[in-house]
Order: sequence, then structure tokens, then C-alpha cells
Amino acid sequence: MRLVKTVKEVREIVNGWKKEGLSVGFVPTMGYLHEGHKSLIERSVKENDKTVVSVFVNPIQFGPNEDLASYPRDIEHDKKLVESAGADLIFNPEPSEMYGSHFTTLVNTTEVSENLCGAKRPVHFGGVCTVLTKLFNIVNPNRAYFGQKDAQQLAVVKRFVKDLNFDIEIIGCPIIREADGLAKSSRNTYLNPEERQAALILSKSLKLGLEAIKNGERDAKAVIDIITKSLETEKLARIDYVSIVDNENIQYIDRIEGEILCAIAVYIGKTRLIDNFIYKCEE
Ligand code: AMP
Repeated sequence: MRLVKTVKEVREIVNGWKKEGLSVGFVPTMGYLHEGHKSLIERSVKENDKTVVSVFVNPIQFGPNEDLASYPRDIEHDKKLVESAGADLIFNPEPSEMYGSHFTTLVNTTEVSENLCGAKRPVHFGGVCTVLTKLFNIVNPNRAYFGQKDAQQLAVVKRFVKDLNFDIEIIGCPIIREADGLAKSSRNTYLNPEERQAALILSKSLKLGLEAIKNGERDAKAVIDIITKSLETEKLARIDYVSIVDNENIQYIDRIEGEILCAIAVYIGKTRLIDNFIYKCEE
């Protein structure tokens, strides 16, 4: 397993693989890797001849008051995890390698990025689409793997890849959780023991919403109310949003039908956590 820091090195290595007719899977990450990332890498290793993992805390997807400076980083730990998952290459560029001194291009979606996290984090998805456009052009993968943990991101990526004719298959992978239900996240490391316990309210509340839907509730507002009331029982929790949207265009819906995404963002202390479930109505 190799770690490289320049675009030139990635291109040389991947070009060599492509000349041999090998398929390439790609897992973009911001590092501080955990079992959630590992599940994506392992899936890519299974489905492709070669797997590239990028570790890059992308400055342009963070807003001015967000956690860019404090975002956790540990490349030595990441190297071990990537190697144990069986990947072939880590691309770990410096921001200067990715953006140089005068970068003025932005790739963005409309509609699919306007609600949920897009409404709360105005620069976020433009930053995500821009860095992924660059990474896709650099790595030139056949397939790229994303977690349902960031469900709106997955919808945004599927859309811009389709709209801009990238010849890349986008594969969504299930949310990996801790044994007690908390969705794994690099940001969980910000939580102190009391907050870590309080954070369980996210998955617990979503479970109540899902049960209501499974029991036949089809009014989105009623489900949102159940989840909101449950979240409000936790004194350390502050709701950013609780929403139900269609899982393709990420537009708010009143009635639960087709494939829906129920997504929440909640501050536990100063830490903003997200979680969600997807439900497909069969009727
Ligand atoms: P990040 O490093 O947070 O940008 O995440 C990189 C990729 O890993 C994204 O596609 C995430 O959706 C995915 N990911 C993060 N946490 C999890 C998780 N708990 N389960 C599955 N995928 C995850």
C-alpha cells in the first residue's frame, strides 16, 4: 500500500493500472478513519482490482464558523486502517496541491442541495462537488463509494455525476453504527462522556419515527413531531433540523410515499451530528 501526496503520482500509478486493464474503485474521505469508512473501502476492494482512498480535509466545504481547524487528523492511524482493509493507494494531498494559489472554479448542484444540510451550510455542497470533480478527474475511477450516513451528499453526488456525464458508477453503502446505535463519525471524537451518552438520542428518536411509519403513519408532519418530541427530552440536544424529503430530489414532502429520506441534524453541546433513515413504501 502506497501513500502519495501529488496529483502527478496518482495519475502515473492509475494510468499504469488502466494500461493493464484493471478496474479502479475510489473512496473519498476526510480521514480520521473508522469502521464506517472501512466498510466502504472493503466493498471497493471486493468489487474492483485496485482501490484508491483519498484523505483530504477539504477547506472549501467548510463555512467560516465551522470546524475546519479542529477537524481531527491522524494519517498514521489512517494508513494502518486503509492497509488492513486491503486498499492499494492513499492520496493525501496538501491544500496547496489541490487549490494552488488562485483557484476560481466552483461546481455546484441546484435543487438536490437546497434543503437539509444545504440550507444550513450554504457553501458545503459546492465545496463537495468541486473537490469531487477534481478527485474524479485525478483518480479516474470506474466506481466510487459513499456512505448513506451523508444521505444528501449521496443524492448530490449521484445527480452531478449524471448531469455532468462522469463515467463513474456511484455506489451507496449502509450506515455503520456503534453497538449502542450511534452512527460512527469522525466528529464523535469531539463528544465528552456525558455528551456521548446524550448523542444516543439521535438514533433512538429516528427509531421511533421509523416505527410509526412501519405501523402505517403516512403524514410526514406527524412523524417529524414524534422525532422532535423525543429529541427534546435530551437536555444537551439542540435541534438543527428534522425533515422528511423524497430520497431522489431531496424536496420536502407532506405525505410519505415512494422512497423517503428522514434526516436529522442535532447539536450535542457544540458538536453537530447528523443521522437518518431511508424507507421505501411498498404500496
Ligand atoms: P468523511 O470522511 O466524513 O467525509 O466520510 C467519507 C465517506 O465515508 C462518506 O461517503 C461518508 O458518508 C462515509 N461514512 C462516514 N461515516 C460513515 C458511517 N458511519 N457509515 C457508513 N459510511 C460512513
